[in-house]
Amino acid sequence: MQTLDNGPAAQRPEALTSVAVLGGGLAGMAAAWRLVNAGYRVTLVERRPYLGGRAYSFVDRETGQEIDNGQHVFLGCCDAYRRFLDEIGSLELTSRQKRLHVEVRAPSGARGILSGLPLPAPFHLLPSLLRYPHVSIGERLRAIPALLLMWLERKRDRPALRRQSFHHWLRSHWQSERAIDAFWNLLIIPALNDSAEEVSASAGFMLFQEALLRDRNGGNIGFAQAGLSAIMGDAVRERLTGAGADVLLDRTADALVVEDGRVTGVRFTDGETLPVDACVSALPPDVLLRLLPEEVREHPAFAPAATHTWSPIVNLHVWYDRQIAEFEFLAFVDSPVQWVFNRTAIAGLEGPGQYITVSLSGAWEFWPMSKEALREKFIPELARLFPAAKDAEITRFVIVKEQRATFRSLPDAADNRLPSATPLPNLFLAGDWTDTGWPATMESAVRSGNIAAEAVGRNADVRDSSMSC
Ligand SMILES: Cc1cc2nc3c(=O)[nH]c(=O)nc-3n(C[C@H](O)[C@H](O)[C@H](O)COP(=O)(O)OP(=O)(O)OC[C@H]3O[C@@H](n4cnc5c(N)ncnc54)[C@H](O)[C@@H]3O)c2cc1C
Repeated sequence: MQTLDNGPAAQRPEALTSVAVLGGGLAGMAAAWRLVNAGYRVTLVERRPYLGGRAYSFVDRETGQEIDNGQHVFLGCCDAYRRFLDEIGSLELTSRQKRLHVEVRAPSGARGILSGLPLPAPFHLLPSLLRYPHVSIGERLRAIPALLLMWLERKRDRPALRRQSFHHWLRSHWQSERAIDAFWNLLIIPALNDSAEEVSASAGFMLFQEALLRDRNGGNIGFAQAGLSAIMGDAVRERLTGAGADVLLDRTADALVVEDGRVTGVRFTDGETLPVDACVSALPPDVLLRLLPEEVREHPAFAPAATHTWSPIVNLHVWYDRQIAEFEFLAFVDSPVQWVFNRTAIAGLEGPGQYITVSLSGAWEFWPMSKEALREKFIPELARLFPAAKDAEITRFVIVKEQRATFRSLPDAADNRLPSATPLPNLFLAGDWTDTGWPATMESAVRSGNIAAEAVGRNADVRDSSMSC
């Protein structure tokens, strides 16, 4: 029971330790998957009637098409997430670039391509950066030493980077406001869900290092061709139950029962209690705190969990009665439209119309707006960007708003991410917000689940230790 490489539970004579995994988002699903494969008796508890957490899809009642709660993209550097998809049999339902290739357009019609050549990183990017038309030639040249500095720093943890904004670092390293808007924020806003002004320099460094500077495939873009629930929540549920785990949907954990410094049970809102040997919380930080008994919650080790704040994402789903443009996805500068995904092409939908998704990250301005106001703002803008849309009729318009889409990578916020181990020897934490070193992404969620499962493996036999408050 000490290692997680022991093979599926079915091959083992008996499952010894019962582990409750609370929260059926990606972190909880990954933890449950690892644990059941290591032979634990796993109960995954999810408040909603489906698994997936912040990454799910639903069927649109009018079009009958699957809508994701938000366009989810992963990169070549997302190793743990891709491995997880592979293990649950869903990797083949995604498409992934063999080389980074992003077309960036401006309303003026100017088009740039950011792409990777078969050269060692970070040099693979330089030819396309030098031709990038949305910043001046001087700004392109000045981006190079900044990228090289980040590349040189990739093995060092510099606390000063955690305390300042990425914008501050960029401004003090030769970058103009224009370069920040039209180059750096192109990746920062969709990946960190805030602009360079808000995120810490360490988060900005981490992103560029992993996606663009570590190796030439780190930035290759991938996304699901089927709905998010099909490739994650539904697939995992089937795999987990097939492997012998209990998946409890529509069950809300209400409290952790702590006796003699250990978690002994999970109480649900209906009053029932599930006895457990160990517990993985893959819950949002505020929910975790609510579930802890007061004397445990007050332990200083849990205090940072109360400090996280969240950024919104708004997705516009637009169906046109005809094709408005041929593309898979596009990024825009100098427009409120950020990234646009051609769902008809990605999901292989039948024509004659076209279904596109506009993904708006760091959507502070947009999430309070009504559907009508968003329509008034964005439909003319889409017609400006895609001239064929001017004459097209919109057959359906759906908005999905996620107010708490991702925790914010603000300066100092990294210090508030909790490790998996807690003062209670049989309580372990997972969730994209825990201390994985990654921003709020599917990669962070899966990594956190893997880390928590490993921690259970290392500690499950510590039966006589307990927390003293
Ligand atoms: C619109 C949007 C777009 C995004 N785009 C991307 C992207 O392009 N790329 C990327 O990598 N990431 C993206 N993300 C982020 C990604 O979805 C998250 O980082 C990841 O899904 C978080 O998983 P998690 O398991 O840590 O948390 P969650 O998914 O929040 O899981 C927590 C779970 O706990 C459950 N729960 C809460 N309370 C209880 C309770 N009392 N009892 C039982 N269960 C409970 C919740 O219902 C939820 O299922 C996006 C997120 C959103 C919202």
